[in-house]
Amino acid sequence: MTGKHIFHEDFRLRPFWWEAAPPLSRAAALPDAVDVAVVGGGYAGLSAALHLARGGARVVVLEAGEFGAGASSRNAGLVSGGNYLGKGLKGLSDDEAAALMREASGALDLVEEIVAAERIDCGYERSGRVVAAAVPAHYAALEATLDRLNRHADARASMLPRDRQREEIASDAYGGGMIVRRTGKLHPALYLHGLLAAAERAGAVLCSGTAVQAIEGARGAFALRAGAGTLRAGEVVIATNGYTGTLTPALRRRVVPVGSYMIATEPLPQDLAASLLPTGRTLTDTRRVLRFARMSPDGTRMLFGGRAKLTPQAPEKAAPVLHRFMCEIFPQLRGSRITHAWCGNVAFTFDFLPHAGLCGGLHYCLGCNGSGVAMMTMLGRNVAARILGAGSAGAFERPSFPTRPLYAGDPRPFLPLVGGLYRFQDWLDRIRAG
Ligand SMILES: Cc1cc2nc3c(=O)[nH]c(=O)nc-3n(C[C@H](O)[C@H](O)[C@H](O)COP(=O)(O)OP(=O)(O)OC[C@H]3O[C@@H](n4cnc5c(N)ncnc54)[C@H](O)[C@@H]3O)c2cc1C
Repeated sequence: MTGKHIFHEDFRLRPFWWEAAPPLSRAAALPDAVDVAVVGGGYAGLSAALHLARGGARVVVLEAGEFGAGASSRNAGLVSGGNYLGKGLKGLSDDEAAALMREASGALDLVEEIVAAERIDCGYERSGRVVAAAVPAHYAALEATLDRLNRHADARASMLPRDRQREEIASDAYGGGMIVRRTGKLHPALYLHGLLAAAERAGAVLCSGTAVQAIEGARGAFALRAGAGTLRAGEVVIATNGYTGTLTPALRRRVVPVGSYMIATEPLPQDLAASLLPTGRTLTDTRRVLRFARMSPDGTRMLFGGRAKLTPQAPEKAAPVLHRFMCEIFPQLRGSRITHAWCGNVAFTFDFLPHAGLCGGLHYCLGCNGSGVAMMTMLGRNVAARILGAGSAGAFERPSFPTRPLYAGDPRPFLPLVGGLYRFQDWLDRIRAG
């Protein structure tokens, strides 16, 4: 199936997740003064607010759109432990890498603790994940990381040889892979709703439709122009990730916003739906231009995503590309139509690591590098702990948060080159593999 025929008659340009959990408005009056103002109402901002309020701070979350407008209600809901830091660990000492992997692994525990303690009904399950080798050579590369992953990140991972691949994925498109058992999945927008409710119960004030336009002053005495008002705050947390704008130029220079795209299929025939990922695990692969997949929480639809293009693109344009990618992996889905297509921004960093800390007096947690359900929840918690007196924001408070000369925060001039290079390298890998 090609062209317009891939679109279901009920096709909608909005996240599938919003059918069960649309973004939320919270129109609290802007307080005059707080201990901490958090800018950005995704997982990072809400987690920071929850932990600050639990610690007794007066905290307000200022969100430009509705809560869930950013990536936190648009993602695939794959919950990582310490298994994805790969590129970011290159060049680090073994001890440094081990510390980062251990801490990232704890992010999964944190999500599980919050979901249980706050009784968040988001279908969380420790499902495990298949990381599939896009070409046979990547299998050996995955295998080379296995011991380190299990030792430092407690990934509970094992290899999945190609001749056993069909036990996990109804596809011959891969050269085997790795099963990472210590990972999970959840409904991302219901998780956001749950975090929001937990932050509110703890006493945080939530203001949607309140873009912060200016931050003046210094630690202990900030003045924020937000929405139609102003407020005073002792500390400020920047939790704007892939939506970081001109409000914070020094941070904007350190993150690269990249679009990530998803589609949902129509409900599939029961046998077909049950056969695609028969063990209920999620799927990612080793391509540089990543692809990922999972079944919907009710098991009837395939939800498929990837970086259809690195440069910004309308989701309706990206949808046919993703449908083609999906059918390359699962040819049995060729006749299935798309009901939803959407996109959101993630934030890459120049060292491929997430970062938390203090910059020009502002606390920040930024740079999910595409995997932030657990990580950004944890960095929000860590920044809260730093403000409450922990002394640091943990292992991801790094000695430097790199940028590049002449980069001011608009990646459009160079993303086509990077995207082209990555696609070329993926193509070369396939040619070499024959
Ligand atoms: C399609 C897609 C699939 C993904 N899949 C996964 C996955 O399966 N697993 C995973 O771990 N990660 C995934 N991610 C990444 C994950 O969604 C993000 O890492 C995470 O949601 C980031 O959370 P955050 O709170 O840091 O930022 P966001 O949720 O993006 O929130 C930032 C908020 O800041 C607000 N903001 C910006 N500027 C201002 C301002 N001046 N004033 C007030 N508010 C402002 C924005 O409106 C936005 O709501 C995916 C992302 C996308 C887009």
